[in-house]
Amino acid sequence: MEKSDSYSKLKVAIIGGGAAGFFAAFSVKEHHKNADVVIYEKSSKLLAKVKVSGGGRCNVTNSCFSASKLSKFYPRGEKNMKKAFSVFQAKDTVVWFEERGVKLKAEDDNRMFPTTDNSQTIIDCFQREVVEKGIRVITQTPVNKLIPNSSGITLRLDDRSENFDKVIISTGGSPKETGFKWLKDLGHSITPPVPSLFTFNIPGNPIRKLMGLVIDSATVRIQGTKLSYTGPILMTHWGMSGPAILKLSAWGARILAERDYKFNIQINWVSIKNEEEVNSLLDSELPTIRRKKIINANPFGLPNRMWAFLLRKAEISHDSLWLELSKKSRNKLINLLLNDVYEVSGKTTFKEEFVTCGGISLSDIDFDSMESRVCKHLYFAGEVIDVDGITGGFNFQAAWTTAYIAGKLN
Ligand SMILES: Cc1cc2nc3c(=O)[nH]c(=O)nc-3n(C[C@H](O)[C@H](O)[C@H](O)COP(=O)(O)OP(=O)(O)OC[C@H]3O[C@@H](n4cnc5c(N)ncnc54)[C@H](O)[C@@H]3O)c2cc1C
Repeated sequence: MEKSDSYSKLKVAIIGGGAAGFFAAFSVKEHHKNADVVIYEKSSKLLAKVKVSGGGRCNVTNSCFSASKLSKFYPRGEKNMKKAFSVFQAKDTVVWFEERGVKLKAEDDNRMFPTTDNSQTIIDCFQREVVEKGIRVITQTPVNKLIPNSSGITLRLDDRSENFDKVIISTGGSPKETGFKWLKDLGHSITPPVPSLFTFNIPGNPIRKLMGLVIDSATVRIQGTKLSYTGPILMTHWGMSGPAILKLSAWGARILAERDYKFNIQINWVSIKNEEEVNSLLDSELPTIRRKKIINANPFGLPNRMWAFLLRKAEISHDSLWLELSKKSRNKLINLLLNDVYEVSGKTTFKEEFVTCGGISLSDIDFDSMESRVCKHLYFAGEVIDVDGITGGFNFQAAWTTAYIAGKLN
């Protein structure tokens, strides 16, 4: 529902022409119809990340339509986002796009994409909306200085200064803290940025020969921490990837950065809790498989290549029969199935989706309005804030939600 417009000549600047910047502009126009809205984008490209997102399909949001459940997917900002989702959540995103002719579909893992499977659909929608709402978009115009005054904020542009009543910052993440200096200069505290959503490098380990192989459900633990995640693992030519690894990288983004990405992971390949349960499974299967070659009779449902790899690692001959398996070898195999350890050294950024952990500290933002607690008339939206989600459409959802609230200009 449109609010009556109390600011008929309200001048609003939005800094950053990405997902959050565009959505904030739409929200301003929804809540303040007559506002004069301009988006300043430093580069020549608008919505560049939307274009490449989700492998070119744009994972717009997630079909988790409960505000409290949705907030659980954010390693940074859970509490704040729970509050924000009570105003605009994933379901609202679906409706917003649907009202503009863009249908979203949910895949089996709850990720939502446009039915066209093409991120250009989202960009086209935004471009139509910009024209329809009379929003000005100015590219190749970086804003690097803001000067607050009693009634608004002055923006220092390359060749001039301009006064605005309200300013929304949606400049995205930055790999370096220096990228936030201009906002720090205004008195904001910055949570130092580190990458999130990366894959693990396991240099020199023969497991990399299994590249392309997917283990549907394994539990990965990071030794010396409480971090653990169960889910699919994908073997790559540099180490391991897949949802379990990416989600761990998000939850552990800061702790793993502190360890300079050198740590051990311990994998339970079969997601069976303990030795006792594995032994009892084996004992129940043995009568039927005892005369079979171990390589051909795998009671754990692991892919053949993985099973062969683990047998080799346990130094069990591929020709030996189950009835020939010594107690020592059996224990070694069980230990590998439950506690297989790999030395991780380094990370690789996930090409499908990566985000910055860190940014404007949560305590500096009032999540009821997204207004800065440090600088009046200044609002934040998107990845510039110290909020980030795991992979699955949650990062765009954070951008839509924070932008929607910021655009109310409360
Ligand atoms: C390859 C890739 C794929 C991804 N896929 C997905 C996905 O499918 N689903 C999902 O949920 N998330 C995905 N993400 C994450 C998601 O893209 C980001 O979280 C989201 O784009 C953040 O939006 P934003 O508008 O805050 O920042 P950005 O998209 O980074 O936009 C910020 C904009 O501000 C501009 N800017 C910066 N500084 C200034 C300045 N001083 N003056 C003017 N302009 C400035 C930048 O040039 C940029 O255009 C992906 C990320 C990557 C890198």
